[in-house]
Amino acid sequence: MQGVAILGSTGSIGLNTLDIIRRHPDRFRVVALAAHSRHADLLDQCREFRPECVAMASPEAAVCLQQALQAEDLGIPVLSGPQGLLQVAVHPEADQVMAAIVGAAGLQSTLAAAEAGKRLLLANKEALVCAGELLMAAVERSGAMLLPIDSEHNAIFQCLPPGVRPGCAIPGMKRLVLTASGGPFRQWSAAQMAAASPAQAVAHPNWSMGQKISVDSASMMNKGLEIIEACWLFRVEESRVEVVVHPQSIIHSMVEYDDGSVLAQLGQPDMRTPIANAMAWPDRIASGVQSLDLAATAALEFEPPDPVRFPCLRLAREAAKRGGTAPVVLNAANEVAVAAFLKGELNFPGIATVIDRVLQGHAPAAVGGLEDVLEADRQGRELAARAVSGA
Ligand code: NAD
Ligand code: MG
Repeated sequence: MQGVAILGSTGSIGLNTLDIIRRHPDRFRVVALAAHSRHADLLDQCREFRPECVAMASPEAAVCLQQALQAEDLGIPVLSGPQGLLQVAVHPEADQVMAAIVGAAGLQSTLAAAEAGKRLLLANKEALVCAGELLMAAVERSGAMLLPIDSEHNAIFQCLPPGVRPGCAIPGMKRLVLTASGGPFRQWSAAQMAAASPAQAVAHPNWSMGQKISVDSASMMNKGLEIIEACWLFRVEESRVEVVVHPQSIIHSMVEYDDGSVLAQLGQPDMRTPIANAMAWPDRIASGVQSLDLAATAALEFEPPDPVRFPCLRLAREAAKRGGTAPVVLNAANEVAVAAFLKGELNFPGIATVIDRVLQGHAPAAVGGLEDVLEADRQGRELAARAVSGA
């Protein structure tokens, strides 16, 4: 029986993780849950899964949850704030920790789970983008097992030679090919994209996901972040990570080896597959995902990404090449710009403009420790907020 802690249990990945746990009560037990502020959702989860403890990042929401739990005689302790998230991440009864908080807000708790030597199910790609070096070092030091949840990286993980784990170089690997759906604006003109609304940007054609990552998919910054994520997970330089647009999202990514073999993982675009894969690894368990009907799918198409309408890909590659704190400010600027776009303060192409301005205005420094990451994150957000108001 594996104890599971979920950071971000009320989000899209969190809910899919609970769905897998619900299907396998003989294998998994929820020991701790954490989320930002949706206390009513967390209350429902407490009723169903009876965790040992829960945490809410928002102190006000923590009070509401505590009162509701008391009223129902559910004696589950409620933690709050950043300290609460950390306690969930290192809960002594958690064998596995699902890191599914969105954005750099998940950085410290993800790092803490790695340092505690947990099986780390990593969905929070921004943690790896901001602190890849620190996170991979923590995994190595503690002997934690890092398993990628992002569908592309989980696909690559499934195509690795036996015994090769994330954090190791891949022997005989020529290049990695990340597939991208192209998002909702794949066939839109630049003029149409300039007038795109938040609702249009979050309407992903294949995947159902949280708002932030949906906007990232529309701008293709999601793929940019995933290039950086792949560099850390598979010890490869940015130039060997290619991106191909594949609108059907059936092939989740590929590894090309020196002999010309290209290994791919296929499946429905349903996050329960990579989540079940990582939770049960090396076993295989049912996930509730529909079988793939290739005859019904008919065509699998591929095209190169358009660098003109999707400048975020180039910006992410630039940050990856510069290294140090450059990916931290890239991520911070993106988070600020996406939030501004969702609030109607910035048009869609403005997201890339803001990130570009912030990246050009930042002199990357080496990352010695967590303080350097947090300071670069703060600077990136400040520069981005200024760029938004000037845009
Ligand atoms: P979401 O917006 O649906 O959920 C985010 C979760 O994080 C919620 O539970 C929320 O309460 C919590 N959260 C947000 N801010 C917080 C804060 N400051 N402190 C504590 N908790 C906070 O997002 P999602 O789509 O589930 O994505 C989560 C992560 O997984 C992201 O990093 C995303 O890039 C990654 N990911 C998601 C998908 C997907 O299909 N949704 C696929 C691949 C990777
Ligand atoms: Mg992905």
